[in-house]
Amino acid sequence: MTDRYAVIGHPVAHSQSPRIHAEFACQTGQSIEYERLLAPLDGFAATVARFRAEGGRGANVTLPFKQEAFALADRVSERARRAEAVNTLRFDAEGVYGDNTDGAGLVADLECNLDFVLGGKRVLLVGAGGAARGVIPALLDAGIGELVVANRTVSRAEDLARAFAPRLEACAFRALAGRKFDLVINATSATLSGELPDLPAGLYAPEALAYDMMYGKAEMAFLAAARRDGASRVADGLGMLVEQAAESFLLWRGVRPDTTPVMRMLRGS
Ligand code: NAP
Repeated sequence: MTDRYAVIGHPVAHSQSPRIHAEFACQTGQSIEYERLLAPLDGFAATVARFRAEGGRGANVTLPFKQEAFALADRVSERARRAEAVNTLRFDAEGVYGDNTDGAGLVADLECNLDFVLGGKRVLLVGAGGAARGVIPALLDAGIGELVVANRTVSRAEDLARAFAPRLEACAFRALAGRKFDLVINATSATLSGELPDLPAGLYAPEALAYDMMYGKAEMAFLAAARRDGASRVADGLGMLVEQAAESFLLWRGVRPDTTPVMRMLRGS
C-alpha cells in the first residue's frame, strides 16, 4: 500500500509541495503519493474528512486554512499551540495531530542557507495570517532583538501582540514611517492578486535583508521594490518551503531528507 498525503489550500495549483515530497520520497526510499487538494473556502473541514476517509495519512495546509487547521486538530505540538496555526496534519489511530513547521523552515533557511544571523536583529513581519503566526515563535526563540508585526487589518496584528506580549509590537503600515529594520519578511498573500503591501519608504537598515515567503515569479515584485528601497540582500521563500516540507516529512515518515539537492533542483528549473 502506498501512503497518501496532500497539500490542501485555496488556491493550491501553484504549490511546489508535490514535487518536493516526491523528491524526498525518492531520496529516502519511501513509497508515498502526494497530491494537491483545492478546498472550497467554506469547505476545509469537509475536504480533510473526505481525504481521511479515503485513506489519507497526512496533509500540509496552506492559505487560508492554517488557523482552521489548528481548530480542527485533536492534539497539537507545542510550537503549533504557541502559533495557534497548523501547517501539517498527521492522521493516526488517536485522531488528527497538528504541527507547525513554518517557523523551523524559515529559521533554517535564514540561518543555514542564507547565513543570516537572527540574534539581536530588528525584524519586521508584514502580514498577520496563518503564515505570520506560524513563524513568530521560532523567530522569538532565535533571539531576535525586536519584532514588529504590521498588517493591513491592524486588529489581526493586535491580536498577535496580545498573544505574544510583551515581545511583539503591532502597528499599521503607515505607522512604520521613520523606522529601520535589519530583516523585513513579507508574509502577506498580496502578490497573489498582483498587489504589494502599502509600506512606507525607508524601512531598510544598512545590510538589511528583504525576504518574501512567496516564491516563483510573483515574489519578484516585492523583492524588486525592496531593492529600490535600499535592501542590500533579497531572498524568496523557496528555501523556507523546502525546509518546512522536510520537517513535515520527518513528522510523517520518521526520516529527515537532505534539502540541498531538492533546492538545487527547484532553482535549476
Ligand atoms: P492568509 O492566512 O490568507 O493571510 C494573508 C495575509 O496577507 C493577511 O495578513 C492579509 O491581510 C495579507 N494580505 C492579503 N492581501 C493583501 C494586500 N493586497 N495588501 C496587504 N496585505 C494583504 O495566508 P497565509 O497562510 O498567512 O500565507 C501568506 C503567504 O505566505 C502566502 O502567499 C503563502 O503562499 C506564503 N507562505 C509561504 C511559505 C513558504 O514555505 N515559503 C509558507 C507559508 C506561507 P489582512 O489580514 O488585512 O487580510
